[in-house]
Amino acid sequence: MRKRILLYYIVLIVVGMTITGFFVTQLTQSLYKDEVKHRLLTVATLFDHELSQASKGGSPIDYNALAKDYAGSLDRFYNLNGAAEPADVSGNAIESRITVIDYKGNVLGESQTDYNSMENHLDRKEVQQAIQGKTGEDIRFSSTLKMDFLYIAVPSTYAGSVIRVSVPLVQLKKINSLIWQYCLLGILAGLLLTMLLAFRFASNISRPVKALTYASKEIADGNYSKRADVRSKDELGQLAATFNEMAEKLDKTVTDLKDKNMKFDAILNSMTNCLVSVDHKMRIILINSIAARFFGIENQPADDSILGRPFIEIIRNHQLNEIMQQTVSGNSSSENEITISMRDEGIYRVYASPVRSSDGSAGNSGAIMTIHDVTTIKKLERIRSEFVSNVTHELKTPLTSIRGFIETLKSGAVKDPEVAARFLDIIDIEAERLTMLINDILQLSEIENKKSDINISTHNLNDVIDEVISILKGSAGQKNVRLIVDAEPNIIIQANRDRIKQMLINLIDNAINYNVENGSVCIKAAKTEGRLVITVADTGIGIDTEHLPRIFERFYRVDKGRSRNMGGTGLGLSIVKHIVNLYDGDITVESEPGKGTEFIVQLPV
Ligand code: ADP
Repeated sequence: MRKRILLYYIVLIVVGMTITGFFVTQLTQSLYKDEVKHRLLTVATLFDHELSQASKGGSPIDYNALAKDYAGSLDRFYNLNGAAEPADVSGNAIESRITVIDYKGNVLGESQTDYNSMENHLDRKEVQQAIQGKTGEDIRFSSTLKMDFLYIAVPSTYAGSVIRVSVPLVQLKKINSLIWQYCLLGILAGLLLTMLLAFRFASNISRPVKALTYASKEIADGNYSKRADVRSKDELGQLAATFNEMAEKLDKTVTDLKDKNMKFDAILNSMTNCLVSVDHKMRIILINSIAARFFGIENQPADDSILGRPFIEIIRNHQLNEIMQQTVSGNSSSENEITISMRDEGIYRVYASPVRSSDGSAGNSGAIMTIHDVTTIKKLERIRSEFVSNVTHELKTPLTSIRGFIETLKSGAVKDPEVAARFLDIIDIEAERLTMLINDILQLSEIENKKSDINISTHNLNDVIDEVISILKGSAGQKNVRLIVDAEPNIIIQANRDRIKQMLINLIDNAINYNVENGSVCIKAAKTEGRLVITVADTGIGIDTEHLPRIFERFYRVDKGRSRNMGGTGLGLSIVKHIVNLYDGDITVESEPGKGTEFIVQLPV
C-alpha cells in the first residue's frame, strides 16, 4: 500500500513537472520569438528609414553596401550592450542579416552573402506577404547553419522593394535546454522531497488501512470482538468508526444467532421423540440426534452427509417415506400408527405436518415428522386389558359358584340341613377365595405403582423366616411336607417386614402346595458378596421348561385346575417378582419336572 502511494506520488511529480516544462517552454519560446520579431521589425523600419534617406541624394542606392553597413553597426551595437552573440554550430558568430529584394524576387543587396549568387526570392513566404503590403514572417530551418531562422519582411516605403531581416533563433535552443534542465532539477528535487513526504503521508494513510484490513481479517476468521483501532477524524477515521459499528452489530447478531441455535439444538436433541424435516423436494433439512440414532445414522456427521440427501436414502422406510410424501404434497397433518423394525420391532405413532411456504406461495415448503415410540404404552394397554379380563374371569368363577349354590338352597335344599351345611361350606370357601383374590389384586396394584418401598426399618431375617414357618406349619403338616431352614444366624435386613414376609409366604406356600406327600421344602438364607441370597427349594412336581418364562405373569398357572383347587389365585409369584423389583433385586427359577423347583432371590444388602 505504502509502496503504491509512493509510486503514485512519483508518477504525479514526473508527469506534473513534464507538463509544466512543456508549457513553460512553449510560453518562453513564444515570448522570445515575439521579442526577436519585434527587434527585427524595428531593424527593418530603421533600415527602411536609412534607405529613404539614401534615396534623397539622387544617386542610385547601393543596397548591398547599405545592408552590410547597417548590419555591421547593428552587431556592434549588440556587442556593446552585452547581448549574447549568436553563433553557428561551429561556434562562429552569426550576425543579423539584412536582405533587400525587389518585387520580382531579385535580391538587390545582402549583408552577409554575395547577393549576385543568390537565387530569386519571390517564392519565400515572408517576401510574398510583404509584397502584398503586410509584414511577412516565417521561421525556417537552415540546413547550412543547422538551426531555425526567423525571417521578417516589410515592404519598403522606398517603392518597389522588400526589406527582409533575419536572425538565427539560436537562443531558442539554449532556452529550451535551460528550461528542461530546470525541469529535470525540479523533478529530482520533487522526487527527493516526495520520497520524504510521501513516506510520511503513505504511512499516515496506510496505518489505518492496515488496521482496518487486520480487523476485517480477524472478523472473517470468526473473532467478532475485534475492532479497528483508528482514531483520526478524516474519512478513514469515519470508515473505521462505521466498520466498528458494523462489527458490533455483526457480533451481536452472531451471538444472538449462536444463542438461538444452541437453544434450538438443545431442544431438538433433548427431545425424546424422533424429529425429521424435509424440504419440498423430500431432501432432509433437519434431523435430531435421537432420530439419527433410531435410524442408525448417528455416526455420520449431521451436516454434510445427511442434510440435503433424499429422505428415503437416509431413513430407508417406505411407510414413512409415503407418509412424508403425502404430507409434502397435501395440505393436512396426519397421525399414523405403524410398526417399524429397526433393532427391535416396535409400534410407533407418526405425526406429520406440512410446513407452509413463508413467502405465501402456493404449495408447501416441506414437511416435519415426529415419531413417538408407543410400544411400551401399547404393551401396557394390552396388559391392562388382559388383566381386566383375567380379573373379571377370576371373579366370575367363584361368584357363579356362590350364586349357583344359593339358588339351589333357595329352591329347597335349605330344608335338608345336611345338604345345606355342605353347600354353605362351599359358599364359604368360594367367598374366601374371592377375598384372597381381591387381597392379592389390591396388594399387586399397590406394589406395582411404587418405585421404592415405604416403612423400611431394620429386621432380623431369621425371625421373619421363623414366623412364616409357624404360619405354614399347619398346611405343610397336612401333606406331611418337611420344612427345613438353613439360614445364617442374625441376618439383618433393611426392608418393609410385611413385604419380606409376604414374599416368603408366597414362595414357601407354593413349595408346599406343589409338593408331593412326604416331600420337603428347604429354605436357605445367606449373605454373599454384598448380596442376600434366599432360596426356597422343594421336592415337588416341578415346572416344565416351556412354562418357566411365564410363571411370574399375572394369573399364569401351569395347571389351572390344580392351582384353583389349592386356592391359588395365580398372582402369588407376580407379587413376589414385584417385591423383589421394589428392592432392586433379582429372582430366578430352576426346575425339573418330577424332581422339584428352586426359587433363588437375590437382594442387594
Ligand atoms: P398360584 O396361586 O396358582 O400358585 P402363583 O403365581 O403363585 O399362582 O404360581 C403360578 C404358577 O406357577 C402356579 O400355578 C404353578 O403352576 C407354578 N408354580 C409356582 N410355584 C411352584 C412350585 N414350587 N412348584 C411347581 N409349580 C409351581
